[in-house]
Amino acid sequence: MFSAQHINQFNQLETPFYYYDLNLLQKTVTACTQAAAQYHYHVHYALKANFNPKVLQTMQAAGIGADCVSGNEVKAAIEHGFSNNKVVFAGVGKSDREINAALDADIFCFNVESVQELVVINDLAAAKGKTARVAIRINPNVDAHTHHYITTGLEENKFGINTWQLDDVLFTLKNCTNLEFIGVHFHVGSQITNLEVFKNLCTRVNELHNWFDNQGLAIKVLNVGGGLGVDYYNPDTNSICDFESYFKVFSEHLRVKEGQEVHFELGRALVAQSASLISKVLYVKNGQKKNFLILDAGMTELIRPMLYQAYHHIENISKQHTAYNTINYDVVGPICESTDCFRTDVALPESHRGDLIAMRTAGAYGEVMASGYNLRDRVQSVYSQPEQVEVV
Ligand SMILES: *Cc1c(COP(=O)(O)O)cnc(C)c1O
Repeated sequence: MFSAQHINQFNQLETPFYYYDLNLLQKTVTACTQAAAQYHYHVHYALKANFNPKVLQTMQAAGIGADCVSGNEVKAAIEHGFSNNKVVFAGVGKSDREINAALDADIFCFNVESVQELVVINDLAAAKGKTARVAIRINPNVDAHTHHYITTGLEENKFGINTWQLDDVLFTLKNCTNLEFIGVHFHVGSQITNLEVFKNLCTRVNELHNWFDNQGLAIKVLNVGGGLGVDYYNPDTNSICDFESYFKVFSEHLRVKEGQEVHFELGRALVAQSASLISKVLYVKNGQKKNFLILDAGMTELIRPMLYQAYHHIENISKQHTAYNTINYDVVGPICESTDCFRTDVALPESHRGDLIAMRTAGAYGEVMASGYNLRDRVQSVYSQPEQVEVV
């Protein structure tokens, strides 16, 4: 919800821009860390969801670790004050340069996604006279029941090591003297709203846990990844995820032995609701069959609808406090691609050139996926003022 004050402020600014509600971000992070603390769970923030400096500062200050998927993310995490022993590094295609930089930074753990990668990390660590801590990313073959473009835990996906390769993993680990095995890692997909999926994941992790026990390989860390979804349809009534219920599923279904740590890697759930993409109507095109609202923001600022057929709540915030007729519009961007459409048949107040349009829940996989296609400018980020907090 945007107040009249917001609208006044927004009308003075050049559009489009990302608007960050830092108070909501803080509240979300606190809700998550408090819920996790009950079970002594460790939370890492998946930087790829949003590496805006203010977001990283908020996560770091909350004592959250960093889950990285590139060398530059590892670098950004360290530069923003995340302690190296809270940085983990996943990804199917880590380059030698990235692995070397992570070894130099002495990160907590590499989440390794193939047998060949184990050998490469061992060789690079040996060349430096170091030991690399590794966790095996296992593909648990659990269906995330989310969009197939963001499903990662099935055997047909490129991520992780399949269970039939685990004998090979064991053999390789025994021969790699510069690797220290610390545990197992899983991540089955993103925007998961059915908690049953995480229960199924726990069942699989328990089975694999037994297998490692039987092989005499001690697991110190059970990393169950991220993927908790948010409510894109009701950003105001459901602005903070139900972290309590999420962690409860693991506390009830995941078998954890004395001394073992449980790690999570949340991205979207921590940041999605705290930003909106604010744009302006450039043109209204009324046709015989269709009406188009042509915005000054497009797939270059928010590509999720075009890339994953994702839903974002769209509001004409210039008209929210007035009586209006409702019209169905196809809401489109200015980019020279037919797919540059946020959604078709959106019921909105009759809209005019200059109206402000908010695309809600744009905090995750929004700004970070911006591109310069069509030689577009990079757009600015605008932040809410911090709430006055009484210091006692
Ligand atoms: C993307 C990613 C995450 C975070 O996923 P969300 O759906 O944003 O919570 C966690 N772990 C790994 C390995 C990832 O690639």
